[in-house]
Amino acid sequence: MEPPVVTPLEITVPAWIFRALRDELVRDIGKLSSTKVLQQVGYRTGSSASVAFRAGLNGTVLEMMQSTFWKRLVEFFSCRGWGTFVVDLDHPGLGFLTSEDWAEAVTDEVDRNASCCFSTGFISGLLSELIGSPVAVLEAGCRARGDRACNFAFGSEQAVRDLYGQLLVGADPTSP
Ligand SMILES: [Zn+2]
Repeated sequence: MEPPVVTPLEITVPAWIFRALRDELVRDIGKLSSTKVLQQVGYRTGSSASVAFRAGLNGTVLEMMQSTFWKRLVEFFSCRGWGTFVVDLDHPGLGFLTSEDWAEAVTDEVDRNASCCFSTGFISGLLSELIGSPVAVLEAGCRARGDRACNFAFGSEQAVRDLYGQLLVGADPTSP
């Protein structure tokens, strides 16, 4: 009898998967729906990635010191090839993860509507699962649309919604 197939916790695929997924989805279901689908798939994938994040931890995530948690999160992404984050927790109600080399931001040409939709969902799913309550994420800046860095804001749904409102009003300074 064949042994049972064990699905590995994680696999490695080329970062090009983001571009391929986006292109195919946009062609089939349009830009708006594809953004939503990528975020939802990212969210579910991020939730399941919490298992890998927790692997080898002594105790629970909530018992970790804040600084240890964020250091582990930065390493979690960088050692998997996603890119390097700088964590900024100096704003009331909101945190920011900023990366100048984020893998989902494929930048062969600037697209003013681009965003790292999968990553936005992924980070939301991962943080929500780890912290045990909903964490909303909004990508406030993205290299793929010509910004210096990808800038993921996170916090409660209300805090992130307020930030979105501010971004809409305070027009992008890089746009004409
Ligand atoms: Zn981005």
